[in-house]
Amino acid sequence: MHKDFPHLLSPLRVGSLTLPNRMVMGAMHTRLETLDRPRQRLAAFYVARAAGEIGLMLTGGFSPTPEGVMEAQGPLLNSAAQLHEHVPVTSAVHRAGGRIVLQILHAGRYAKVAGCVSSSAGRARINAHAPRPLATDEVWSTVASFAHTAALAREAGYDGVEIMGSEGYLINEFTAAFTNRREDEFGGDFDGRVRLPLEIVKAVRARVGPDFLIVYRISAIDLVPQGMTASEVAELARRIQQAGADLINTGIGWHESAIPTIAASVPRAAWAGAVRNVKDAVSIPVMASNRINMPGVAEDLLASGTADLVSMARPLLADPDFAKKTRLGRVDEINTCIACNQACLDRIFTESSATCLVNPRAGRELELNGGRASRPRRLAVVGGGPAGMSFAIHAAGRGHDLTLFEAADALGGQLNLARKIPGKAEFNELLRYFETSLERAGVAVRLATRVDAEHLCAGGYDAVVIATGTAPRRPDIPGIDHPKVVGYHDVLTGRAPVGEKVAILGAGGIGFDVADFLLSDPRESLDVSAFQQAWGVDPAIAAPGGLLDLQAPARPARDVHMFQRKPAPFGRSLGKSTGWILKSRLRRARVAMTGGVAYDAIDDRGLHYTVDGEKKCFAADTIILCTGQEAERALYDQLRARGLAGHLIGGAHEAGELDAQRAIEQAVRLADAL
Ligand code: NAP
Ligand code: SF4
Repeated sequence: MHKDFPHLLSPLRVGSLTLPNRMVMGAMHTRLETLDRPRQRLAAFYVARAAGEIGLMLTGGFSPTPEGVMEAQGPLLNSAAQLHEHVPVTSAVHRAGGRIVLQILHAGRYAKVAGCVSSSAGRARINAHAPRPLATDEVWSTVASFAHTAALAREAGYDGVEIMGSEGYLINEFTAAFTNRREDEFGGDFDGRVRLPLEIVKAVRARVGPDFLIVYRISAIDLVPQGMTASEVAELARRIQQAGADLINTGIGWHESAIPTIAASVPRAAWAGAVRNVKDAVSIPVMASNRINMPGVAEDLLASGTADLVSMARPLLADPDFAKKTRLGRVDEINTCIACNQACLDRIFTESSATCLVNPRAGRELELNGGRASRPRRLAVVGGGPAGMSFAIHAAGRGHDLTLFEAADALGGQLNLARKIPGKAEFNELLRYFETSLERAGVAVRLATRVDAEHLCAGGYDAVVIATGTAPRRPDIPGIDHPKVVGYHDVLTGRAPVGEKVAILGAGGIGFDVADFLLSDPRESLDVSAFQQAWGVDPAIAAPGGLLDLQAPARPARDVHMFQRKPAPFGRSLGKSTGWILKSRLRRARVAMTGGVAYDAIDDRGLHYTVDGEKKCFAADTIILCTGQEAERALYDQLRARGLAGHLIGGAHEAGELDAQRAIEQAVRLADAL
């Protein structure tokens, strides 16, 4: 056992299982459950994590009834005829030495299907479909359906079930007065509202017997109006234990909560207080979740007595070997989840299957599996940003001999700017991972080296990969060379002073990030108290749902005005699961946004523009260009002129809509192909 993680690496008996460590992969909807038939890709996904020594894995949610599925054709387990789809998955996991628990999730009014059901009428703001309230006899048959699914899970070879009672799904819709306005035995006072989960746990226990693991995921803090208080959550936890659960997992907030719960802008382990409340109420083990992405954070939660286990979902997408690296003390080699949601949650919303920005192999274990190259070659890669570094690491991992040239005196490229943005400090971990991995893979890194085509041609390389990134676009506006005009690079690196009246030109991801950089308190994403204060979270959860009235923000330090030429709403290009957080912060900082503009000129008076046929001037003292990028391809063109075709990746390949996800995936695919 590694000396730094004595708690995290100690075994634990839960129910009839003995877990080798306290690290659990939390349930995730990868959508492989829906899209992959037979479930070979899903099995390969779990097998990789079992081989990486995770103590226990929870599957994505399977509904016990057709109306409780997350989406049409979503995962459902309600018949013995479906067992053949599960048995290969559980057997493969067991052969790899792992343990796997099926999550039973009835989506309630979040089910994206016509005919969805809930405790009471009332559409969730995140679903187009309005639910029908379940009649009393239907609630009882829903209880029975949970028990039936649990019995099927046992037959399919799972090691237990998790009953999903959090995040605003059906069970939560019964426990919170926010959604439960019933007058039968499943509504009214606290006893009535918690009857559904208690009856479900009792029915499942009666059906599966004493030796099958039952995990209950409780909503430790609802973060919705009329949600539970801390004392109600604690009382529910006690009754769940009495009803027969072996382990309590914690969920944070509902999907419709107006407070971020898992994004990078949430400090690590921010919800420890809510978990502690549950832990203090029961004697069975309790599992912490949300924003636990490194072994040190997890160890602290266990050592402080906050929890007995930690659930990490996205961190296991990012690195299947998280637990093994922890055991070996190779923490610097962990590919850390940066909580961006870009390739996991945001992809699920667009009906693709989940993968990971920092690990494009996640969910594609069968198709993107590297392996040794048949003929090792000498390769040069130019550019030490995310694309160049990823390519070098993966190509060297296949046995090629790699040299990486970077013109700057440090690796990172655009990552060095991203990590300066409030709420993006996790990018530091990505940079650390890249640097450690380059060294481990034996890549020869040449910093402060601007190579030219002549050098590359003379180097005798078998192939050259160009990852030279992008250069900021400088739009053609009269007065663009005025001293009050600065680039976003100069602002983020502190090279350009910024005044009090600021115009931001361009409202893509970088325009928003720069506005946030100029106005937000960076402590909000690092310090739990500052986060709670900024978002109105009651640390004691004495207020229903843990929500406090938000104080009116102080006068912002700067008057910031964002502009774009498109008439479309601002923020369209931001991530679906994180864009609202950024927009909400900028709204509070009273950032003005004007779209549909034509830029006329820049002079001593400020920015002159036309909107709706009217000429206006914003008296800016600083004008920041966030007007996109253009591909930096000079070296590539020089090589071509000499008859040497390089491979273009990342921003140098396609600057428009450049993002790290595409750059890294393209790099990994090329590394696998060469
Ligand atoms: P972008 O998203 O392409 O936005 C560029 C902005 O510049 C647009 O708002 C565009 O708006 C404007 N623009 C383009 N050409 C112009 C011209 N000739 N004159 C004046 N304005 C012009 O690029 P970005 O903001 O630089 O971000 C690059 C990529 O990084 C993004 O695509 C994103 O994937 C990623 N990123 C994402 C985030 C995030 O999601 N939080 C943060 C940072 C970066 P109009 O044409 O309407 O004026
Ligand atoms: Fe984490 Fe981002 Fe990967 Fe999702 S895509 S698992 S949030 S690093």
